Amino acid sequence: MAGILSAIKLTEAGFTDVTVYEKADRLGGTWRENTYPGIACDVPSHLYSYSFHLNPDWSHPFSPGQEIQAYLEQVARDHHVEGLIHFGEEITTCAWNDRRWHLDTVTGHQNVADFVIAATGVLHHPNYPEIKGLNTFVGSVFHSSRWDHGVAIDDARVGIIGTGSTAVQLVSAVVDRAKTLSLFQRTAQWIMPQENPAYRAEERADWSRNPGKLQHLHQTLSELFTSFANGIVNAESPEMAMIADLCRQNLETKVTDPELRERLRPNYRAACKRLVISPNFYESMQRDNAELVTDPIDHIEAGGIRTGDGRLHALDVMVLATGFKVDAFMRPMSVIGRDGRDLAQVWSDRPNAYLSISIPEFPNFAMINGPNGPVGNFSLIEVAELQFGYIMQLVDRVHSGQCREISATQSATDQFESERVTAAAKTIWSTGCRSWYLDDRGIPATWPWSFDRFCAEMERPKLEAFELRP
Ligand SMILES: Cc1cc2nc3c(=O)[nH]c(=O)nc-3n(C[C@H](O)[C@H](O)[C@H](O)COP(=O)(O)OP(=O)(O)OC[C@H]3O[C@@H](n4cnc5c(N)ncnc54)[C@H](O)[C@@H]3O)c2cc1C
Repeated sequence: MAGILSAIKLTEAGFTDVTVYEKADRLGGTWRENTYPGIACDVPSHLYSYSFHLNPDWSHPFSPGQEIQAYLEQVARDHHVEGLIHFGEEITTCAWNDRRWHLDTVTGHQNVADFVIAATGVLHHPNYPEIKGLNTFVGSVFHSSRWDHGVAIDDARVGIIGTGSTAVQLVSAVVDRAKTLSLFQRTAQWIMPQENPAYRAEERADWSRNPGKLQHLHQTLSELFTSFANGIVNAESPEMAMIADLCRQNLETKVTDPELRERLRPNYRAACKRLVISPNFYESMQRDNAELVTDPIDHIEAGGIRTGDGRLHALDVMVLATGFKVDAFMRPMSVIGRDGRDLAQVWSDRPNAYLSISIPEFPNFAMINGPNGPVGNFSLIEVAELQFGYIMQLVDRVHSGQCREISATQSATDQFESERVTAAAKTIWSTGCRSWYLDDRGIPATWPWSFDRFCAEMERPKLEAFELRP
């Protein structure tokens, strides 16, 4: 998504020497890799679209992953950037030498660039749980982002480990097909109710004929999500109270068995973890063949999962819906900045960057969806477009000859990080839950201010925060 965006915008701006490196054999990133049953966008599709390429044909308000994949491929085709992509070329090293970036790929190709944009994703490296005996299981086991379509789910005894957005989508998609479905829950989730009826053909035809209406819909959704994102950074905001009410009502009204209801009730505040949205998770968990397992997993053995109470949950298929290593970013790619400075060392405690975009002493290098940026229940396409607009202004400084090297100063980066950490303590993500937003210190690794502030910050780089070398 971010690589295609960059290629389109750079080409439109007249850059003729743009290369996109993609280690896989197909574009799409997240949407290429995550093909599990039930995968769908959980922000509205008309918002999860490039602002310059809206799509009248989304089938649902929250469309399936395969449609998003097809959309990204269509956008790349329509904007003629497919030819810029070198597939099967993983960048292994990116080193600043003689005032330019020297790139090495896994196949032995080399290239030299004046400016590098790392659009390598954030939910990209699967997180495999460390559970004793995992490799002794004789059935099929795979991570949700590595779905094995050769494995039969129909009439199988399926176990899902994890309760994030992926697990919730999976439960609803698999429960009617599996013989039994066991959901292994470490932490209960607040679930926001969701309506997702297919769009009617007339609605889609109308958007097709009237691009202004489609633009208006995109704008309305953007404003709605901006107000939501503004509210979420303040744990005491009315938006948070409203979300908490909706989630509580959803649980109270949809789960009829009081014992199950209590086991599904989180013991932390709604939106402390990334909000999970589902039209039918609770209904699915009340099907006769579904079981919520809350006894902790003790170990895995040949026949299935043994929980702490001594019970063996016999399984044919085990799905690890255990998320991603969210602090890897472009690593394991080796990035060597000015004077041999190794990013692996600079980030040895944890990743960090000025405004999540620029790293001191790594000139002419910028990240989209980099560390501590806005993540949450809003469109990362919108975020990437704003970040790209900012990065383009850095590229322009170099391209127009105002400087040859540009990177954030250490003092601006340190000050930003210190203010960010202070602000993060006041957000809903700091109110006492364990989540992938939290870093090793328990501090949310996210943009902790309003979305309005993020938009304002992305409008124009403050040049005093940058070192420009002639
Ligand atoms: C299951 C799931 C559901 C999601 N749902 C939503 C949602 O509803 N709304 C939302 O806003 N976001 C959602 N996200 C987040 C999603 O990741 C982003 O929206 C978006 O797709 C990220 O795009 P990206 O281009 O930044 O990164 P990615 O899609 O991760 O793409 C990065 C690309 O870089 C390539 N790459 C990485 N390293 C190298 C290298 N060294 N050399 C060459 N190529 C490399 C990868 O192969 C990949 O193709 C979801 C994520 C997941 C996993």
